[in-house]
Amino acid sequence: MVGDEFQVGKAKVCLVQGDITEMDTDTIVNAANPALTEGGGVSGTIHRKGGPKILGECKCIRATEWPDGLPTGKAVITSGGNLKARYVIHTVGPVWHGGTHGEPELLAEAYHNSLKLVVSKGLKTIAFPSISTGAYRYPIEKASRIALTTVKEFLEKEDKLDKVVFVLFTEHDLGIYKEAAKEIL
Ligand code: ADP
Repeated sequence: MVGDEFQVGKAKVCLVQGDITEMDTDTIVNAANPALTEGGGVSGTIHRKGGPKILGECKCIRATEWPDGLPTGKAVITSGGNLKARYVIHTVGPVWHGGTHGEPELLAEAYHNSLKLVVSKGLKTIAFPSISTGAYRYPIEKASRIALTTVKEFLEKEDKLDKVVFVLFTEHDLGIYKEAAKEIL
């Protein structure tokens, strides 16, 4: 996977094109739905390739911690099942409703809570997909800026992470993240 790399504080931020389920970072992030079911998009692929162990843990988290579903912006962690990554963080991004329903704040929370969780577990490397920009229709030009800004602000205050990777599914999406990163990182 070829891509761009930026130094932010003690960590590297990498932008690559690819399939997040192929990443060998400590943890990958799932753009989950509140029910923590397989769903489609990146979530469908994570569950398909990761095997039933991940879904079993998701069901347990639902039953014991979030019976009404995981609220938007929150994050939980499971094992990585058969994936190369040891863990999967499941976070729910906002559905785009025009941008005046708290979408920017909720998207930033999804990234921030995932980063906090990875640090609290003592893990060093994390890979994100472009949360909310698929089925949830968040415009990727706007979402990329929030993603990169949230990660940058976190890494400026927190020195326990080694690497944050953004895995963009298409060359087009990677181009948009690269443009935003030139300005923000
Ligand atoms: P959401 O419901 O949060 O919008 P989606 O899974 O529909 O989540 O899409 C989020 C982003 O993930 C989209 O940009 C989509 O192209 C991308 N995506 C889909 N599959 C993968 C994958 N295997 N690896 C990385 N990114 C993916």
